[in-house]
Amino acid sequence: MARYIGPVCHQCRHIGEKLMLKGQRCSSSKCPLERRSARPKERSRNRRRRESERALQLKAKQKVRFSYGVLERQFRRFFAEAKKAPGITGENILVLMERRLDNVVYSLGFASSRAQARQVVRHGHICVNGRKVDIPSYLAKSGDAITWRERSVRTGYYKRLAEEIKGRSIPGWLSLNEQRMIGNVLALPGKDDIDPRFDGRVIVEYYSR
Ligand code: SF4
Repeated sequence: MARYIGPVCHQCRHIGEKLMLKGQRCSSSKCPLERRSARPKERSRNRRRRESERALQLKAKQKVRFSYGVLERQFRRFFAEAKKAPGITGENILVLMERRLDNVVYSLGFASSRAQARQVVRHGHICVNGRKVDIPSYLAKSGDAITWRERSVRTGYYKRLAEEIKGRSIPGWLSLNEQRMIGNVLALPGKDDIDPRFDGRVIVEYYSR
């Protein structure tokens, strides 16, 4: 399955925002955007040019795509699905992104970034309703139980995580049994569960041209 393999910090630079694509590193002083904002000279040199409406639409679309780690072709497929579904297309596309299994694994706190969650899924550590699912784009449904495979429970990663996960906050459409490390999808995410930094309406405008 294709994925972006270039330097992810370039994606943040391109958008001009911290997209938190590298987990804990993003909150540290190692983040290049943090270092850059600490340099006043460079900041004045990088003064923004006025961007066209089209450029802003592209940026809004790329922000979502980079954040969820989806390539353009797959994102277009999701968009086509969002268009066919009842309701508002701009909301539908963001809800579909939220429902991706790699995002659910990340939201439950089973990984520190969506990229890491994708790897956890791809390596076959996750089961949905008792069956191994190693497809990051699997769309979680209401009532799904997200568990770890029996052999994965013996890994150092799992043991560390079981210690660190206590008390983490998770979105309202999910629940987590911290002792048993079982996640449940209580309901499909609604528009209130979508990251307010994302604007689905602009994505629709971008693809409507
Ligand atoms: Fe973005 Fe994280 Fe890289 Fe900072 S460290 S530029 S937030 S991916």
